Amino acid sequence: MSRPSRVEIDLSALQANYASAKTTHGGRVFAVLKANAYGHGALPCAQALAAHADGFAVAFVEEALALRQAGIQAPILVLEGAFAADDVQHAAQHRLWLVVHQASQVALLEQHQGTPLHVWLKVDSGMHRVGFAPQEIPFWHTRLQACPQVQQISALTHLARADELQAPEHTQAQLHAFEQATRGLPGWRSVSNSAAILAWPQAHRDWGRAGLMLYGVAPCASSTPLRPVMALKSRIFAQRWLQVGQPVGYGAIFTAQRRTRVGLVAIGYADGYPRSTPNGTPVAVAGQLVHTIGRVSMDMMTVDLTDLPEDIGIGAEVELWGQRVSIATIAAANHTIAYELMCHIQRVPRVYLGT
Ligand SMILES: *Cc1c(COP(=O)(O)O)cnc(C)c1O
Repeated sequence: MSRPSRVEIDLSALQANYASAKTTHGGRVFAVLKANAYGHGALPCAQALAAHADGFAVAFVEEALALRQAGIQAPILVLEGAFAADDVQHAAQHRLWLVVHQASQVALLEQHQGTPLHVWLKVDSGMHRVGFAPQEIPFWHTRLQACPQVQQISALTHLARADELQAPEHTQAQLHAFEQATRGLPGWRSVSNSAAILAWPQAHRDWGRAGLMLYGVAPCASSTPLRPVMALKSRIFAQRWLQVGQPVGYGAIFTAQRRTRVGLVAIGYADGYPRSTPNGTPVAVAGQLVHTIGRVSMDMMTVDLTDLPEDIGIGAEVELWGQRVSIATIAAANHTIAYELMCHIQRVPRVYLGT
């Protein structure tokens, strides 16, 4: 018998969420597949979206080449652009769209010989991570236009606080700065990540860039219907009774206050379920909500089965997150975000459902 742990990826939910992103944003939408599609598997996700998506976005050229090798034909935007000359070569050869966010990347394009490229000029409208300052945009735009290796120039920016609906002034200032910097320039515009697609209609331009929402999680309050794509599942493989006063697991962070039936689940932090998860975090056993007790270990963790019927025990299915327990709840319990939990999935086999 093999270890009963897996991560299920519902590709029909992914398709439905992409359709929701398109409807909500209008225009065209990149499906963001960086970091192995946020842990969901970039190739199967790209294939499931191939007939639907206007384009894909990844962080690095290597990620884009893997999609091209798998036969993906749609436009691919490379969000961090070129790191070295061979990135520009590959981009030209495989029709990748490179983001250009710093002077050294403009120099790489100027030195490039071969097929001209479509590039996306990155405006730092206020996140102050990467991109050219708004007042420098006309200069860099002119310089790229003068470059015979550049065929088309579009513009993008990234919003730092679009998920903070209670503090709209930051996003408003970024939108204003981007508008000012790009006024009158030809080419497409792209501003919106998931939060802006969902909550900032005034940020919608020619292309949206949907990441998290594709995977069924909203980064902020929203009425757009989304279906969870990922479900992390395992089974109870052992159980025991704790007497009052007996602790369980490393560090004895849980001690039984009543006679407690403990279920052992065949999954741990080596699979990506966070070790920092506190006692009392929800988990679904045979579809019923119970909670974690004791510290999560590398290959196993412990849950409280006391309130479940006795016939729910060894062999029962456990959902760590998915339909019944939202990944956002687990992220909040661990003082992190769903993005990080998704990206940290490892070791467990991915099982694809739907389409
Ligand atoms: C990752 C990323 C996105 C997608 O963000 P989500 O919040 O996951 O929708 C969009 N744009 C850029 C530049 C990114 O790096």
